[in-house]
Amino acid sequence: MFEHDPFPRYQPLLFEPARPAPYLPFEEIVAEMRAVHFPEIDGEIEVRLGTADPLAFVHVGFMHDAGHLIVFHPVLNHPGTPVEVVRFIAKHELTHIVSRGTHAGGEYDAHPPEFWAHERRVGPEHDAVWTWVRRNLGSCLRKGPDALSVTGRWRELRSGRREPYTPGLPFNGERWDRVCPGNGAQLALPASWRGRRIG
Ligand SMILES: [Zn+2]
Repeated sequence: MFEHDPFPRYQPLLFEPARPAPYLPFEEIVAEMRAVHFPEIDGEIEVRLGTADPLAFVHVGFMHDAGHLIVFHPVLNHPGTPVEVVRFIAKHELTHIVSRGTHAGGEYDAHPPEFWAHERRVGPEHDAVWTWVRRNLGSCLRKGPDALSVTGRWRELRSGRREPYTPGLPFNGERWDRVCPGNGAQLALPASWRGRRIG
């Protein structure tokens, strides 16, 4: 009876008495990002966790005309996922609500240049977040024709540690020989100091 419904998993959870508590407050994060960066969005936004292919996606008008659905992949639901990463992904999905895709040459483009411009305005941390995602979740991501998808290997990442999010460090992405020329020569003590007791 469901074969014509492409999203049966997101129907109301009639038989589940309580949803397991997520490590991160996904719903709150979406609400915060919406309030700060997208006050123009009307209506309701449902937030769920679900194992579809993308890291996250939005169905604009899925519930009704002004009722949207944002789904995060459970690989993000981990105590080591920095809140900044989920905030950025929430902003990416919210951008889809205000900046719709275009049809060019018969092809649908969900991320036209106007989309990326809007996303950069509300999420200048784009590169830092993607660096974190690639380093920490890269082993379960596969590049698809349109977007990255999460492979079944994500389960291997459920118990491992995750790095902190450190976009503010000035060394980020800098070459060692540039920040410390001569292999740190300016930090070295003179040879005559070696072995001298201090104090
Ligand atoms: Zn997108």
